[in-house]
Amino acid sequence: MDLDLSGHRVIVTAGASGIGRAIVQAFLDDGAIVATCDIDDAALATLPEGVFRQKVDVGDSTALRGFLDMAMAHLGGLDCLVNNAGIAGPTARVEDIDLTAWHQCIDICLTSQFIACAACTDALRDSANASIINLSSVAGRVGFRLRTPYAAAKWGVIGLTKSLAIELGPDDIRVNAILPGLVAGDRQRRVLEAKAQSQGRSVAEVEAQAFSFTSIRHYVEPGQIADQIVYLASRRGSSVSGQAISVCGDTQMLA
Ligand code: NAD
Repeated sequence: MDLDLSGHRVIVTAGASGIGRAIVQAFLDDGAIVATCDIDDAALATLPEGVFRQKVDVGDSTALRGFLDMAMAHLGGLDCLVNNAGIAGPTARVEDIDLTAWHQCIDICLTSQFIACAACTDALRDSANASIINLSSVAGRVGFRLRTPYAAAKWGVIGLTKSLAIELGPDDIRVNAILPGLVAGDRQRRVLEAKAQSQGRSVAEVEAQAFSFTSIRHYVEPGQIADQIVYLASRRGSSVSGQAISVCGDTQMLA
C-alpha cells in the first residue's frame, strides 16, 4: 500500500528502543522526517542518521516542552505527533503502592501525553494531514490486576484521545489511540516475570493464561504495531478519529 508519507513531519516520544524505535523506522521507511526524544542517551545515538534526537525525560514537563519546540522548529512544522513514552509502573497490591510510584507512572504514561498534545496543537492546525496517535494499552480497556497505576493511566489515555478527537475534529486534527497487548521484547518479559513473582506462579503459567484470552496466539512484533500507526497517520487512515484500536486480537486478555 502506498501511504505517501514523503516529507511528513513526525515527532515520536521515546523512540530510541522498543515500539518507539519501530515507529521511527516505519515512518522513515515511508519517507517521513522524524524527531524523537528518549531518556536513554546511548540508544538514541544508535538511531539512523537524519533523525533529530534529544535526551529528555518526558516526566519533566519543562524539558518535554523544550524538546517539542525545538523539534517542530527543526521539522519546519508538524503533521503527526506519536505519544509513545510509557513505563510499566509498580506491580503490587493497591495498599502497597506508594504515592511516588503512582505519580511517576501517571506523569510518564498520561500527563506527558496531555502536555505534548497541548504543545503541538497550534502547529498541527497548519498541517494538511494532521494526526495525534497516543499509545495506550489493552490494560486501559479491561484493567490489569496488580498494575493499577498503569491501567488507570492507560485508561486515561483513551479518555484524553476521545475528548481531543471531538475538540480538534473541527480543526481537521485526527486523534486515535493504539492499544498493544502481548508484544515481543524485553518489556513484556519483565512484566510477565514481575507478575509471576507477585502471584507465586511460573512465568510459563502466567504467559499461557495471557494467551488463553487472545485470539492472536503469538506475540505481536513492534513493527506490526508501527504499521498501524503509520497507516493512521497517512491519508489512507484519514477517516479514522476518536478510536481506541487494539492490536492484540482481543480485549479480554488481561481479565
Ligand atoms: P519500553 O519499556 O521498551 O521503552 C521504550 C523506550 O522508552 C526506551 O527507549 C526507554 O528508554 C524510553 N523511556 C522510558 N522512560 C522514559 C522517560 N521517562 N522519558 C523518555 N523516554 C523514556 O516500552 P515499549 O514496550 O516499547 O512500549 C512503548 C509504549 O507501548 C508504552 O507507552 C507502553 O506502555 C505501550 N505498551 C507496550 C506493551 C508491551 O508489551 N511492550 C503493551 C501495551 C502497551
